[in-house]
Amino acid sequence: MKKEIKIIFKKCILIVIIAMSFTFNINSQVIVENPKKIKVAAISDWKPFSYLDLEGNSKGILIDFWKAWGRVNNVEVKFIMETSWTKTLELIKYGKADVHIGLFYNDDRSEYMDFGSPFIDLMTGIYVKEDINIFNINDIKDLGIGVTKENYARHYLENNYPDTKLLVYQDIKEVMEAVRKGKVKAVCIDYHNNFRKISFYYPELKDFELLQTIYTQPLRVGVKKGEKELLNFINDGIKKMSVNEIDGVKSKWEYITIYLTKDKVQKYILTASAIIIIFLIMNILFLRHRIALGIKRLAESEESYKELVKLFPHGIFVQQNDRVVFVNEAAVRILGQESYENIIDKRFIEFIQEDYKETVQSTIDKVKKSKITAPTLEQKGIKSNGEVIDIEITMNEITYKGKPAILTIIRDISRRKEREKEKQKILREKLKYERLKTEFFSNISHELRTPLNILLGTIQLINKVSENKNTHVHYDYYNKYSPIMTQNCYRLLRLINNLIDITKIDAGFFKMNFRNYNIVQVIEDITMSVAEYIKSKNLNIIFDTDIEEKIISCDADKIERVVLNLLSNAIKFTKAGGSIFINIYDKNDIVCISVKDTGIGIPKEEQETIFERFRQVHPLLNREKEGSGIGLSLVKSIVESHGGNIYLNSEYGKGSEFIIEIPANLKVEEESVLVDKISTEDKVEKINIEFSDIYS
Ligand code: ADP
Repeated sequence: MKKEIKIIFKKCILIVIIAMSFTFNINSQVIVENPKKIKVAAISDWKPFSYLDLEGNSKGILIDFWKAWGRVNNVEVKFIMETSWTKTLELIKYGKADVHIGLFYNDDRSEYMDFGSPFIDLMTGIYVKEDINIFNINDIKDLGIGVTKENYARHYLENNYPDTKLLVYQDIKEVMEAVRKGKVKAVCIDYHNNFRKISFYYPELKDFELLQTIYTQPLRVGVKKGEKELLNFINDGIKKMSVNEIDGVKSKWEYITIYLTKDKVQKYILTASAIIIIFLIMNILFLRHRIALGIKRLAESEESYKELVKLFPHGIFVQQNDRVVFVNEAAVRILGQESYENIIDKRFIEFIQEDYKETVQSTIDKVKKSKITAPTLEQKGIKSNGEVIDIEITMNEITYKGKPAILTIIRDISRRKEREKEKQKILREKLKYERLKTEFFSNISHELRTPLNILLGTIQLINKVSENKNTHVHYDYYNKYSPIMTQNCYRLLRLINNLIDITKIDAGFFKMNFRNYNIVQVIEDITMSVAEYIKSKNLNIIFDTDIEEKIISCDADKIERVVLNLLSNAIKFTKAGGSIFINIYDKNDIVCISVKDTGIGIPKEEQETIFERFRQVHPLLNREKEGSGIGLSLVKSIVESHGGNIYLNSEYGKGSEFIIEIPANLKVEEESVLVDKISTEDKVEKINIEFSDIYS
């Protein structure tokens, strides 16, 4: 870049030097003898061209022009000021002055004068008092126009407007005197093109305005006839005057036009051309530089685009004529393809799952036809291994390598979809749980209210009967209603116990009391304790065991609750005449306890969730079978607290089997093996509680 600028600079300097030397050559062609001093015949009252100010100094446009001429040509310029044109012309005629300050050409004058080329314009116009309502020179025919005797304007008006009345005065001073006195209301005066300032030179004309310019003529240099060399010298001197010199005069007197001589025009054209050429060369060089820079930037931006496309996490496809012509790395990866070649030249819809092909194809057609950006669609793509993936597709029309194409961006949304599914599942479960909770609370209220109602009703009945004097009647009532009251109290107790237990489990305070027990005996004892009861329900109870003794570490009290709970369910959901089987299997390090019935069974869809809290199968259908849906979840928690598992085998309508597996561990620190220490009284109480919601 720096090097290039240096080159441009060198070239510019060279061109400027060439242009300058050419310019100087033109100037140096004029070789004249320098007269050192020149006398210029000037007029003392020809404002603003040449005049004497109040201090007697020569002033005016032409005065300045000649002063500038003298400076440029290193010639002393002396002005000889005369009050009339005749006198200035005589100065030239008789050789008392070298050059006239500026005058028009006419045949009379050419008899004794030689004229140079025009160098400044002079305008002559008629100024009229503002308040006079006239529009052109013909309207002031009779008004009279003030002119000076010797001014060319007088001859001009006499020749061109012979009908117009002229008021002729000796000099401009007299004209202004007449204006001041109001004798003259129109004057004919020479001015330069800043006519608005005429009152600056002639304050008497402050109320006057320009009516009409009658002529514009160029002023020329005039020398005594035969003084050709002098004329050339003066003319060449004018040529030498630079723009700056002329500008100096122009800016002082504003808007005046000083002619540029032909040579000067040439010089300016040359300089201007040189500048234009330099400018053009510089532009070309800059342009070249910028093009180079542009190409470099283009290459850089192309590189960054490539990098961007490469790093873009979504798949990019460009299709032309229904074929993929460009594909990025992400697209290859998303589609599980091995390389680009597997995609290039194929149809995009080949990578779309069968059911979605039609929609995708119609989107492609739409984009092609209407040149729109298709809204993002969720579709399914197909990977090379046949795996279906969820993708999001965006398509729009672009120009690729000068031809219309379709840009397709695919986004692998499989994970998002999975997350959505998971979220949906969680939401469903939450809703299910909420529903269950609602069911539970309605159920629990029912569970609480039913025994309480029964209790209250019974108490009210007994109270009524107690009014009866016959004690026998009291006794009968007591005998009849006491078991009902007891059962309902147990029922309430069970419910509250269960609620307390699940709360304890949730809070982690469910206390287990592990000791070494003969599990076979524990199960057999509790079964035997309820055998009679079960039989009374018209159900068969069959107990069988592989082994007589299996000492394991367990909480016997909790195991009894488990068995009672399962038996209570079996009783509840098995019709009279059905059977209940309790089996113990020894699997060495595991003890299996099975509680099986030939009852109504549990539908398949409910089996997975049966151990969930508050879960009841068809709660409304089961309304006649009381329960809170806490039992099995408690059973499961107790079994799991033993490090065991619980399974269900059931066929709807045929029966259910709950299998408990408990690891056969021993509590090491205990020396002796404990036998069942639970009193029969405790057991009865427990049975009463666990079986409290069985109604015949
Ligand atoms: P509950 O405390 O109400 O008895 P459970 O958790 O013990 O609650 O049982 C939940 C539900 O499982 C019962 O309401 C019933 O619908 C079903 N169920 C449990 N055991 C059996 C079984 N042996 N036969 C048929 N259904 C059963």
